[in-house]
Amino acid sequence: MKHELPKLPYALEDLAPVISSQTLEFHYGKHHQAYVNNLNNLIVGTKFENADLETIVREADGGIFNNGAQVWNHTFYFSAFSPKPKAAPAGKLAEAIIADFGSFEQFKEAFAKAAATLFGSGWAWLVKDAYGHLEIVQESNAGNPLRTGLTPLLTCDVWEHAYYLDYQNKRPDYIQEFWSIVDWSVVEYRFGK
Ligand code: MN
Repeated sequence: MKHELPKLPYALEDLAPVISSQTLEFHYGKHHQAYVNNLNNLIVGTKFENADLETIVREADGGIFNNGAQVWNHTFYFSAFSPKPKAAPAGKLAEAIIADFGSFEQFKEAFAKAAATLFGSGWAWLVKDAYGHLEIVQESNAGNPLRTGLTPLLTCDVWEHAYYLDYQNKRPDYIQEFWSIVDWSVVEYRFGK
């Protein structure tokens, strides 16, 4: 199947100043699009030619995995943002965060630390395990927690292309501002699935 760049649920300028339209032009318009294009080129003539994206993320290796997972990860990352986000979780997700991390503030601190200390390029994830418990995991490069049977709930892209135009080398500043555009209604929906 031919993979496509999904539409963003907001305009390129809507997340500024947290993420500028210039960053989105490159990060979504060029990087995310390039992963889609590379994937479409790489799967021709392979057993993944007609596979859906999640199957590719779970089963592929090498370049097909790298590009397929980067398509999935970026779609997941971009779709958790809103210019008018729900600022904190409620209901069952809020209860799970308190049970597993102590408080929402302690969760944010632990997630931010995981994102800030991830060496090189990669992703910090909030995930749910098979028993419904929450964990924070770090994945390098295109890594995706679906590969180890976990359910992704939220991710922060810490590849330099995600923040360098807006924050230069100050990755912790980007992570701190990231919280103000995360729409917790999206994360609640993912948790409840
Ligand atoms: Mn990225």
